Amino acid sequence: MRSRLSRRVRAIRADKSAQLRLLDLQTVDTTLAQLNHRRQTLPLHAAVTKLQTERAALASDLVAADTAISDLELDQAKAENDLEPVRERLRRNQVRIADGTVADPKALSSMVEEVGHLKRRISDLEDAELEVMEQLEAAAESRERLRTRIADVDDNLARTIAERDQQLGELELEMGGLRAERAEIAPLIPGDLLSLYDKIGANHGGVGAAEIRQRRCTGCQLEINAADLRAFSAAAEDEVLRCEECGRILIRTPQSGLAHSGL
Ligand SMILES: [Zn+2]
Repeated sequence: MRSRLSRRVRAIRADKSAQLRLLDLQTVDTTLAQLNHRRQTLPLHAAVTKLQTERAALASDLVAADTAISDLELDQAKAENDLEPVRERLRRNQVRIADGTVADPKALSSMVEEVGHLKRRISDLEDAELEVMEQLEAAAESRERLRTRIADVDDNLARTIAERDQQLGELELEMGGLRAERAEIAPLIPGDLLSLYDKIGANHGGVGAAEIRQRRCTGCQLEINAADLRAFSAAAEDEVLRCEECGRILIRTPQSGLAHSGL
């Protein structure tokens, strides 16, 4: 453990103010990461997705409703086509019966009988057509309700997207300010310290540097052991310290609780 620490301590030196700047940078980076997380997990993202799913299902229902109506319209046209020749035959028979052109009583009687049959047939076909028309009416009403729901969902979706975009815009604005702050702080930190910070942060949830507060690493929250405390207290103020537990860069401040922190 000791030799590992010694190796690290030898690796990088940076003056006290640069180390404190690194802590400022960490604060900015942590806030940026939190805002980025908030941006990615906005509840409105889920709300938009839910509405889009609902919208897609309704669109598919509308296609089905259109198809059902087309089919019923075909059925109605077919019913009308079926009726036409029967009505025509009935008319012809009725005319011939009325004008007395059928002299043969047997033929006349069979014609009268056929008229009765044709009337029943027409009545059946008309009932069937009426049923199709009722179904058509119901289908048209159902499609209209569907269109109303789609319009409602579209309105809701547009409002939700606008609200989400507004929240994203506000977060982006805040993040833009922090990025500008970062761009001012980063150049004040030596390159080797900054690369070490970035490298550690990449493997430690974005936290490469942590303050020692009350003899505790604020990165991993573990208490620093007595031997490390002695070594840290004895270390020159430009020595870059590392947490023996989590490996993060440790920054000394007046709140660190070290005997000779040089601060
Ligand atoms: Zn630690």
